[in-house]
Amino acid sequence: MKIILSILISIILGTPSVLWSCNWKVYGRLEVKNDLFISAPGSNAHSQRVPISDVKVRLWASTLNSGGWASWGSTRSNSAGNYQIRKRPREADPIGCNKRRRFKIKLEFDGRSARVLNPGMQTQSYTFMTSKKDGKEVRVNKYLNTTVDDRNRGQTISTSYKATRAAQIYWAYRLLYQKANAWNVGAEKISVVWPDGLGNMDLLGWSAPGCCVRITRSWFWYKSDDTNVWVNIFDRSGYSWRRKWATRELTHEWVHQWFNKNAYIPNFTGGRTPGTHDFLETHQVTFYEEFAEFAAVFLNQEVFHIVDNNYDNTEILNRYGVYKAFKDARRPNGRPYYSDGRVLKPMIRQNSRKWKKDLYRAQDSVANYLRLLISPSWFRKSYGTESFSGTTTKPTRIFIDPIQYDCSDVSVRMFTPRQILHAISRWKNAFSNRRIPDADRGILGFYNYLGRRSNTYQNDFDQQKSLFFKLGNPHYAGKKDGIDACQKIL
Ligand SMILES: [Zn+2]
Repeated sequence: MKIILSILISIILGTPSVLWSCNWKVYGRLEVKNDLFISAPGSNAHSQRVPISDVKVRLWASTLNSGGWASWGSTRSNSAGNYQIRKRPREADPIGCNKRRRFKIKLEFDGRSARVLNPGMQTQSYTFMTSKKDGKEVRVNKYLNTTVDDRNRGQTISTSYKATRAAQIYWAYRLLYQKANAWNVGAEKISVVWPDGLGNMDLLGWSAPGCCVRITRSWFWYKSDDTNVWVNIFDRSGYSWRRKWATRELTHEWVHQWFNKNAYIPNFTGGRTPGTHDFLETHQVTFYEEFAEFAAVFLNQEVFHIVDNNYDNTEILNRYGVYKAFKDARRPNGRPYYSDGRVLKPMIRQNSRKWKKDLYRAQDSVANYLRLLISPSWFRKSYGTESFSGTTTKPTRIFIDPIQYDCSDVSVRMFTPRQILHAISRWKNAFSNRRIPDADRGILGFYNYLGRRSNTYQNDFDQQKSLFFKLGNPHYAGKKDGIDACQKIL
């Protein structure tokens, strides 16, 4: 009876007051300034302040002015960037319960969908401390907003800048994962090494197969000659192209890692580095590279609303444009791949095996063939004329000429970006050992695969893929010694 009574009292009165007072709560919100994956600096549509979700938060407490840290456990920030850790230290514990205390908080950028590593390949982290707090509820927010490289600012630990950029990349890669997950296209956790050395100003990252994306520290800064100070390029007007370039490159490398896991890792030709994008590669490397560029553009638009208006990255060449790209192609020593008309013209005229082989492994035509798949109005473009819009130095832009070369009989929209990723992520399943053979690793193999999956995507690509091949082939250019591909349809 006595026991039951005391339990009843406990229920009515609650826990004894000593325990109440010892219930510490440390909580807060984690955010990062996003000046990277946004459509325009200062844009209202995409807030510059975004929550850092799924970050591991480790907490320590100390009643001393220096050292004496006792672990209070860890948690993860939620989708709003909020975290909370509760602790009930006993008064008998070394740091007791009621004394004022400092807190040390460590953020680790490792979650379900992405991981940022430091050059030593440990999880990139950021640690900060508070002043002494009375308790028992302590709110500790963190807003990472150091977007100017801070290593020359006399700081003993220059981690705030690294943490800001790490958090931005982590945030972006998490969103890319979520899109792949929502689209059911083989979402993969992608790792990135940041910063991978000092680097130079070339803004090129690379993907180590089986490991991670690697980008250098110099991606985000610019050293002005007059002040000799490193500055954030994104804050400067006239540099928005660099931000777009950086975001496309970061997504491009994400696509490589995703592609490695879902489709294939290309065999790189000996003597060439994976970072070199020659005009002519092997089929599989060209497809690997051009697919990453193509997918990065539409993913950045879908996920971050970044519209890439650099037509080199987005627009479809007309057939004269493809012809010109071949004509202008140069080897690293500056000599042309196709020495002169004696070689190039007969190849186009005859549509020979040699010509086709090069067509299916050349950067420009493979990019073209990929972009044709999702271009909503491809049938209205002129693929046959030598005319061009734009400037004489860039005479390869699309020229809309719906009367002369109307292909609207085949005006079906072919694929959505989601369907393209879906097809890539299931491509290997078409083979018994789940390995895409070398011979199929290219635009030709992928087109054939899409043709066989016409039922899945409910289009008639199987009938139309030969037309698409013609649309990207200068042999069929109306005024380039060829017939027009649409003549048979009209
Ligand atoms: Zn690449």
